[in-house]
Amino acid sequence: MVYGLQDVLFLRQMLESSQAEDRYKQVERQKLEAMLGLCEITTCRRQVLLSYFGEPDHPPCGNCDTCLEPVPVWDATDAARKALSAVYRSGQRFGVNHVVDILLGQETDKVLQNQHQRISTWGIGKELDRNQWRSVFRQLVARGLLNVDAEGHGVLLLNDRCRGLLRGEETIELRKDPRIPSGKGKKDYRSAARRDRANPAMRRLEPAEENLWEDLRALRKRLAQEQDVPPYVIFHDATLMEMVIYRPQTEQQMRSLSGIGERKFDLYGEAFLALIEEHQTAPNAWVRPV
Ligand SMILES: [Zn+2]
Repeated sequence: MVYGLQDVLFLRQMLESSQAEDRYKQVERQKLEAMLGLCEITTCRRQVLLSYFGEPDHPPCGNCDTCLEPVPVWDATDAARKALSAVYRSGQRFGVNHVVDILLGQETDKVLQNQHQRISTWGIGKELDRNQWRSVFRQLVARGLLNVDAEGHGVLLLNDRCRGLLRGEETIELRKDPRIPSGKGKKDYRSAARRDRANPAMRRLEPAEENLWEDLRALRKRLAQEQDVPPYVIFHDATLMEMVIYRPQTEQQMRSLSGIGERKFDLYGEAFLALIEEHQTAPNAWVRPV
């Protein structure tokens, strides 16, 4: 699932500004929190769902997408602490962009106006870039460790749940987001290609590609039915789209696509390779993804 902090803020804002009754809003708020939490999960989804329903002791299921394709994570304890204390030191009156400016030690007008170059958290976060910091904040918000003001200005606020982290009693692992190129100035062909890969749905298909796409989806559906799992557990749409675009012909090529690890290749790789082979019209159709 691809979304950014803006989406989280937007959903929250929409909810808070709606005319609905408070009780209804409260329910919707909890649903939103649960959904965001599930999106950001880095461990077995079934485990999380079961513990949500009061059964905390299940082992990882081995079948959900995060079990089959472990989410790359990093120890973000230090970064999260810096992020939270930057919010605190700047008085809990600012949105993510300004707090990131503080962490990066940027001398913006807003920083200078507020004398934020003098607070202890100014410039302590130069080990991460702007996108990485935004990812940290998005995940902290989604996990309920940081709040966003109810008025919808995007102001970040601390809450009780982040105390353990701030005090150094808890650690936290966050999802590693794929690096999104900032694209300023640099003519980076690789990052443009990566951006396209990140959004394969934007690609318009040729008729021949359309056929392959439909056949890949049919194969996925059949496998999913046989194994009694939802289709996305086999491969996500994005992965199928990469197969259409890059036409892998070998295991190595197949495994360089996103969403295909060793285990998934072992389970499904050959079947999909064989199907792509049937659709091969021109030699050298393989284009290496970058
Ligand atoms: Zn699982």
